[in-house]
Amino acid sequence: MNKKVAIVTGGSSGLGFATAQQLIADGMTVIITGRDGEKLQGAKQSLGDHCVAKQIDTSDFDALPGFIEDIVSNYGSIDVLVNNAGINMKKPVADVSNEDFQKILDVNLTGVFALSREVIKVMSTQETKGVIINISSMAAQYGLPYVIAYSASKTAIDGMTRALAVELGPVGIRVNAVAPGFIHTPMTAKALDSDPARKAKVMGRTPMGKMGEPQDIADAISFLVSDRAKFIHGVVLAVDGGNSIGF
Ligand code: NAP
Repeated sequence: MNKKVAIVTGGSSGLGFATAQQLIADGMTVIITGRDGEKLQGAKQSLGDHCVAKQIDTSDFDALPGFIEDIVSNYGSIDVLVNNAGINMKKPVADVSNEDFQKILDVNLTGVFALSREVIKVMSTQETKGVIINISSMAAQYGLPYVIAYSASKTAIDGMTRALAVELGPVGIRVNAVAPGFIHTPMTAKALDSDPARKAKVMGRTPMGKMGEPQDIADAISFLVSDRAKFIHGVVLAVDGGNSIGF
């Protein structure tokens, strides 16, 4: 019961999986979430006994309070929340329906808000409070075509990170965001493999000349949630091989 407890949404794949693996290596009990039960169970098997898999859709807002109550009653506290679950949709803006747009916002933004709110209620009452990490994107740093809803959602995540940090700093809850550059995961494969021109553009403006690995993001999160980052608050940390400042 004295292990730290972390929630990593979307921990069944990509960046979330690498983050869950790292936080377990750091000594935490990690609850991973996802919609696809089979994928989730596969991840749980690889992550081992200190991983707990909970099949939940973070855009099923009504289910979130019960999910959090269940974690608290079983594990006693919530020390870390990594709002990682996210979806993308690549389409010209004229083809994006209101429903398409809303679906992205529900997962990438409203779900992050609704889950954070429930976790904040718990963290506020704990002696050691806690740390929240939101996952942003390069889509919030510069204009990216064909991902209108994704860009809107991730830009809002940066704003929400700052607003939460200002409100929760006095309470003792730290809030930061990580903005991954282009990292090898199923999501990027979907967006770039069929679009060599976009991939060439990404590489052309990445000074380090390569895409990142999920572990690069996991390492940054591991640092940000640790006491070594105890005075880092309200930042959006780009982990991107220089992509966001590339020419
Ligand atoms: P990924 O491999 O597609 O993984 C996404 C994870 O989120 C999966 O575990 C997925 O599981 C889960 N998920 C999606 N919708 C969900 C929902 N409604 N409720 C619960 N879980 C849900 O993607 P990734 O590349 O690792 O991306 C992770 C995060 O990093 C996202 O927020 C993404 O926007 C951000 N990001 C990634 C990159 C990159 O280069 N990869 C760059 C910038 C930002 P299910 O499908 O089973 O639900």
